[in-house]
Formats: sequence, C-alpha cells, structure tokens
Amino acid sequence: MSEVEYQKHYYPGTRDELVARLREQLSDFRFEHVVRVEHTAVKLASRYGIDAEKASVAGLVHDYAKECSDEQFKVVIQREHMDPDLLNWGNFIWHGEVGARIINQELGITNQEILDAVRFHTVGAPHMTPLQQLTYVADFIEPGRDFPDVATARAVAQTSLEQAVVYETKHTLTYLMANDRPIYPAAIATYNAWIGNRK
Ligand code: GDP
Ligand code: FE
Ligand code: FE
Repeated sequence: MSEVEYQKHYYPGTRDELVARLREQLSDFRFEHVVRVEHTAVKLASRYGIDAEKASVAGLVHDYAKECSDEQFKVVIQREHMDPDLLNWGNFIWHGEVGARIINQELGITNQEILDAVRFHTVGAPHMTPLQQLTYVADFIEPGRDFPDVATARAVAQTSLEQAVVYETKHTLTYLMANDRPIYPAAIATYNAWIGNRK
C-alpha cells in the first residue's frame, strides 16, 4: 500500500518525520502495532470515504503515550486540571484520555477530531465521528490481533463501521466482565448509546 502524503498539516511535518518520532517514543513491539493500525485505518478510510490523512495521523499517534510512566500521567492530570477521578484508573484509560493532551503538546497536533479519536480509542464514546469509529475499530482488528472472534470483527468492519463499533464494544465489555475487571464508566456510556438504542 502506498503511504499517505501529508499535505493538510494535521501533523506539522511529513509522515516520515512522524514515524521517526514514534520509533523514538515506542518499543519495537508497539511501534509495529501503530504502523499496522495506521494501514488498517487508511484502508477503512478508503472504503468509507473518510479523510485518509486524518486516518493515518490518528492511527499512528493513538498509542503515542502508552509507554509513559504512571508518574508522567499523574503530573499531566494535575497540571491540566483534568477530572481527579482519572487518578483512580490506570494506563489503559490514561493513554487515551490524557494521551491526547500529551500528543497535542509534544507532537503539535491541534485537530480536535483527531485528538478525540485518540481520547476515544480505548473505551469509545456515545457520539463518535466516522474517523473516531474507524480509529476505535482499526485498533481492534489490525492484522496483529489474534483473539478468537477477530475474524468476525474484521468481517463486520468490511460491511458497516457502526456495526463494527457495536461488535467491539460488546466484545470488550463481555471480556472485562468475564475476567472480573472494573469497567470505566465511559465504557458503559458507550455501550448504552451504541447497543441500547440500536436493534
Ligand atoms: P492497545 O492500547 O492497543 O493495547 O488497545 P486499547 O487501547 O484498546 O486497550 C488497552 C487495554 O484496556 C486493553 O487491554 C483493554 O482490554 C483494556 N480496557 C478497555 N476498556 C476497559 C475498561 O473499561 N476497564 C478495564 N479494566 N480495562 C479496559
Ligand atoms: Fe491503546
Ligand atoms: Fe493500540
């Protein structure tokens, strides 16, 4: 697949420069994941008529903060006066919600739709734009994922982005409950909006 050429300045530099930043910031394992998410996101963008450049940037940066230390996240939560309840959660919530602030500050990305795609990529949101749905889904179905139902998730994503959001949301909550993991309230709000109101 040919790479997306950056022309709209969602990232203040070239794609190669952004990739170099990510290679510096992330372990090899996670760097490879974000590149696969980007490719998956760009393919979905082409299928659904979504801006490929936004899809590329969102895919590449979505886990930028994933390897930040707990201490780094706590400093940002306090410095930016973010919701203090965030302190009761951990990396899996912080790398999206707080990660979006870090991406804004460290990478100079200002496009709110992209920043919200990062914010929402783990637990979703009641209202997600097609770009945000695509980022949420691409992270779940990228070719490196190998959980038992991933083939179904991939198939659904080829026919309906919204149905893929529904499938992923239900799957993630089912998995968390089966494993006695706490559920972040925003994840329940996502579930209610996407499952409760749709047949
Ligand atoms: P990754 O960053 O590419 O690994 O993927 P995600 O950002 O989608 O998910 C990060 C982790 O958070 C995964 O292990 C999810 O299972 C987990 N996760 C997602 N939602 C919740 C939640 O509401 N509660 C808990 N405890 N974990 C969650
Ligand atoms: Fe993530
Ligand atoms: Fe990810």
